Amino acid sequence: MSPHDGQSAVTVLGLGPMGRALAGAFLDSGLRTTVWNRTPGRERELVERGAIGARSAQEAVAASALTVLCVVDYDAADAVLRPDAVAGALKGRTVVNLSADTPARARSTAAWAAGHGIGYLDGAIMTPTTTIGTPAAVFIHSGPQGLYREHRPVLDALGGTHTHLGEEIGRAAAYDIALLDVFWTAMAGYAHALAVARAEGVTARELAPFAQGIGAILPPLFEQLAEGVDGGSFSGEGNPLTSAVSSMAHIVHTSEGHGIDAGVMRAAEGMARRAIGLGHGEDGFVRIAEVLGRR
Ligand code: NDP
Repeated sequence: MSPHDGQSAVTVLGLGPMGRALAGAFLDSGLRTTVWNRTPGRERELVERGAIGARSAQEAVAASALTVLCVVDYDAADAVLRPDAVAGALKGRTVVNLSADTPARARSTAAWAAGHGIGYLDGAIMTPTTTIGTPAAVFIHSGPQGLYREHRPVLDALGGTHTHLGEEIGRAAAYDIALLDVFWTAMAGYAHALAVARAEGVTARELAPFAQGIGAILPPLFEQLAEGVDGGSFSGEGNPLTSAVSSMAHIVHTSEGHGIDAGVMRAAEGMARRAIGLGHGEDGFVRIAEVLGRR
């Protein structure tokens, strides 16, 4: 181990926009930061700011007790970590994998790491690159509690909030998938709404303040509905599924009347009609969560 090992050193593998933001925050906090990326050149600005540019992933991981990996997905993570030379250099050290992928991939990577004597924590970043190093950054983690506690001081250099969600290694990815599901389905609805509004002569600018109002309805609903959903009750008081489908049908008709694909709304309407067909017309929209989960 080099004299720089320990809590004052960190390695970042993967220097896409997010990896560069992470490495930049580590540098700003004064940590000795070693960086490496598959394609050379992306480390240049970080090296100018004081980072150590390693010539290989093996050299990079050997420089620190903790390696933070942030690449596009776990195929890329495997390509970086699993060559024998890198795995050998990681033995007895720890990887925090902040690349996004599925809970199943997190579990298989953890099993591989355990088989090679490598400490492994999985995590996800829930906010954009601009938040890294600021109080607005949000990180979630899962894996061995002791390992998390040991490396938390280094992770704190990334700013924001860090939440350890449990020892089950797939848990951070499970949260990530669920939260991205909320995000992308909402964005798909928004993009579709913009197309329909535009066909009706309404600009995105004109719609924006009202769209914000609609968006603001959601956060309190997440809180209000949570206990009922967990307890198996799906009250439709004030907005039963029967009423929701009629509102959705208007969107489908307007959209298709303009020749605009209504697939996003048809999928949602289809789920609601299935729940009604199963006798849940008086329940609220979240009954769909239970119906979808039925085998
Ligand atoms: P990308 O998701 O585009 O990832 C780019 C990085 O992945 C580069 O370092 C690239 O290396 C590397 N990579 C891709 N394929 C391979 C491979 N086969 N072998 C080795 N390295 C590979 O950009 P980001 O940096 O933005 O994202 C990184 C991770 O962070 C992703 O999982 C993303 O979902 C997550 N994230 C990103 C956010 C953002 O705002 N950008 C927000 C929250 C999470 P090379 O330069 O050689 O191509």
